[in-house]
Amino acid sequence: MQGSYIDSVIAATRGRSRQESSLKSECMKLLQTQAGILRVLDTGSRKPPLLIVPDGPCVIEHYADLIELLALDFRVVCFDLPGFGFSYPASSFDFSVSQTAETVVEVMDLLEIPFAVLAFTCANGFFALHVAQHHPHRVSHLVLGQTPSFQSMRQWNDRIIPKILHVPYIHKYWLIDCGEGWRFGLKTANLRYRLANHKDTAIQRHTKVQGQRSPYDADWVYWSSRMGRYSQVSPRVARLLKRQKGSCPFCQLYFRDADVLEIDHIIPRIQGGKDDYNNLQLLHRHCHDVKSARDGRLRCA
Ligand SMILES: [Zn+2]
Repeated sequence: MQGSYIDSVIAATRGRSRQESSLKSECMKLLQTQAGILRVLDTGSRKPPLLIVPDGPCVIEHYADLIELLALDFRVVCFDLPGFGFSYPASSFDFSVSQTAETVVEVMDLLEIPFAVLAFTCANGFFALHVAQHHPHRVSHLVLGQTPSFQSMRQWNDRIIPKILHVPYIHKYWLIDCGEGWRFGLKTANLRYRLANHKDTAIQRHTKVQGQRSPYDADWVYWSSRMGRYSQVSPRVARLLKRQKGSCPFCQLYFRDADVLEIDHIIPRIQGGKDDYNNLQLLHRHCHDVKSARDGRLRCA
């Protein structure tokens, strides 16, 4: 999940009315951009345009005195970057340097500013550098204040910011951007682990042992049907007894201890039936006789 998702939720909670109530100056307006609705102050004269962005968590209001002074010589455009102040980001905004730089260019396009002085400070200087690098004809002058090298910024970041904030944990540990909502999990390059829900585990029904039963009661039909094995019963018969739940598929009656059971080939061998478990069933001897007679009649017909 992108961090902007949280900001989008917060923005939705705050509401557009709060954004609009922040337009205290007649120079302020809201601009709809790809990155979201941005709050922009534009002194709007014919003087050379100058773009500044507040250094978060500062907002446009903190630059009022500076803007008043600069407006003597420039058309000053100052706007809250997406996710700061009263500029709420779109859910697709990823806060990358390139996307933010393109937002700066988009603001210039919307205000019909062909080129401008970019005077950005601190980490915002990387956005201005990106604009100058990719749209050099849009930048007449570049003024950077307190913008270190990217490597120095990373070192400062690692030292100052608590480690837990370095990693997008929500993106990492919840599968929201996999279309699974707030499901706890872990993604790697090739695998996806999920914390299992209760419903993911199928219910396995167990049959209670009948009240007076004992493993030593020698009821081989009962115990073979239950367990699929019994010491005095061949594994084949025991397995079939378990599969058939102790009943004869021909007459549908349960086998009893005294019954004589026989293994039958469902499709007779003479008709090409195989001698494997899928083609075997356990029948009463008399049921087997009836079935074999029927098989013979069918063969003769
Ligand atoms: Zn039977």
